[in-house]
Amino acid sequence: MFENKERTDLAELGEFGLIDHLTSNFKIRHQTSVKGIGDDAAVLNSPDKQVLISTDLLLEGVHFDLAYVPLMHLGYKAVQVNLSDIYAMNGIASQITFSIGLSSKFPLEAVEEIYKGVELACNQFNIDLIGGDTSSSKQGLVISVTSIGYAAAADVVYRNGANEGDLICVSGDLGGAYVGLQILEREKQIFLENPKIQPDLEGKDYIIERQLKPEGRRDIVDLLAQMKIVPTSMIDVSDGLASELMHICKQSEKGCTIYEEKIPIDPMTYETARELGIDPTVCALNGGEDYELLFTIKQADYDRLKHDVDISIIGHITDQPSGCRMVSKSNVVHELKAQGWSAFKK
Ligand code: ADP
Ligand code: MG
Repeated sequence: MFENKERTDLAELGEFGLIDHLTSNFKIRHQTSVKGIGDDAAVLNSPDKQVLISTDLLLEGVHFDLAYVPLMHLGYKAVQVNLSDIYAMNGIASQITFSIGLSSKFPLEAVEEIYKGVELACNQFNIDLIGGDTSSSKQGLVISVTSIGYAAAADVVYRNGANEGDLICVSGDLGGAYVGLQILEREKQIFLENPKIQPDLEGKDYIIERQLKPEGRRDIVDLLAQMKIVPTSMIDVSDGLASELMHICKQSEKGCTIYEEKIPIDPMTYETARELGIDPTVCALNGGEDYELLFTIKQADYDRLKHDVDISIIGHITDQPSGCRMVSKSNVVHELKAQGWSAFKK
């Protein structure tokens, strides 16, 4: 990936030189960050809020493929994906730690690219980088991100609070990240067979962005606060709508009914899925990596939310014995499955 660029050997800087080089640009913005990088541990202070913590571990070849993920995007996405978990608790993220395991094939310039993405995400979402760890890795790139966020106790939203009759809402649109991945995989195969052919991603920018540059929905957390709505349950859509709905239902000991025609799917996602011969609804249900927020609200809150174009109401919570169901466009009732590929294939 860096064959034609300048390569500075990491050994030239040493571990401390590297950490300093990578992190010296990052500034501290939050009062809760008492001490950031530079000591044995970071120090945080939050007298009146509950503290939310979430960690992700990302392994090359398992969670990302450097053949088509630019390093800057990787740094950016690693942070976003982790912040998304804090937003899914209805909290505001303020700090991250960022840890990397680097193989010797990585020059300084490659690590700098990753940190450019980290910096971009921190600037955009008002996050302090307060620490991390740096190590060599014998096999592939390893990234771990931990996010720290805050919320008043009464505002924290768990997965287990959905009640019968609550409305099921989802932000943005679904399935795009998965369809974007299919396009990237296809172009990678073509490239592997003939490296002279340039990737043809024209007209696919939105779904490629959904895959490479997802954004945590902090804006939805802000919007809910503005509307004075505290959802009864919430989760972020990392594994597909079906699986997340089932998490909420299982933990809340409830069932649900959603309507296929209400599931928000962007036209580009829809058309590209059709081109590839896959069902767009299946992409939304089982695709994953959309990082939208899925939440339930009391019916009494409906009026405050109904005009928001970025939130779709896709169904309602039922009793547990009814199970998790989807009413298809042709009015057939399907049972939702976490891996519903065969069940929904047309
Ligand atoms: P320790 O030996 O206690 O693990 P380090 O020398 O690894 O400490 O880290 C020194 C400081 O630099 C710490 O504040 C740590 O959190 C921070 N740090 C280390 N690696 C990274 C990294 N990749 N990104 C950001 N901060 C880092
Ligand atoms: Mg260390």
